[in-house]
Amino acid sequence: MPSVTERWHSVFAEVAEECAKWGRDVSDITLVVVTKFHPVSVIEELLDAGARHFGESRHQDAAPKADALADRDLTWHFVGQIQSNKARAIARYTSVIHSLDRDSVVDALVTSEHRVDGFIELNLTDDPGRGGVTTADDMLRLAERILAAGTIDLRGVMAVAPQDADPNAAFAHVASMSEILTQAYPNATDISAGMSADWQQAIEHGATHLRIGTSITGNRPTPR
Ligand SMILES: *Cc1c(COP(=O)(O)O)cnc(C)c1O
Repeated sequence: MPSVTERWHSVFAEVAEECAKWGRDVSDITLVVVTKFHPVSVIEELLDAGARHFGESRHQDAAPKADALADRDLTWHFVGQIQSNKARAIARYTSVIHSLDRDSVVDALVTSEHRVDGFIELNLTDDPGRGGVTTADDMLRLAERILAAGTIDLRGVMAVAPQDADPNAAFAHVASMSEILTQAYPNATDISAGMSADWQQAIEHGATHLRIGTSITGNRPTPR
């Protein structure tokens, strides 16, 4: 079995290859290693291998890891659904929140002492419980609220492709939503899309932020 270090190097090389295939510059891609449920030692190994961007999905797991690694040179990305009452605590250690999915999370960040970069999460499923906005109008309304908050730099849109659908169609839709957003907010050009199973298609459709877990870390331990 390849080590985490080996998998990091091989995924990074594959990302570079895929970028070349689509005429994209690999330096435009931020490869976020999603380390949820993995121990600090895995993140330390990845830091030694050269990884700098790490994604977590649950505050109670992420906060102690951020504490343990407070003196290391790394950037935390939050990719999971956020309870509004945890939003400010998350912003204390997180630089980039990928999962701004509703008004209450944005409103909770108005009084944050730490600025964050933020992505609007799109819901590509029929299940409203998944979080995220569905229509372009709802996306633009949430964008307006994010701008008004004054503590969030809007970077773009984020999405998880539905498991039972063609990721190409899903990411083409994400790209069209991104175009609508950038017409109103010219700086919000980033697209956070692509996980272990579908990051190649995400690159093809313009993803700037890949959130890759298991392909690099191996299977996740069962969450406590
Ligand atoms: C867990 C998770 C990922 C990583 O998923 P893998 O399939 O392990 O690559 C990416 N994005 C989000 C939002 C996640 O929750």
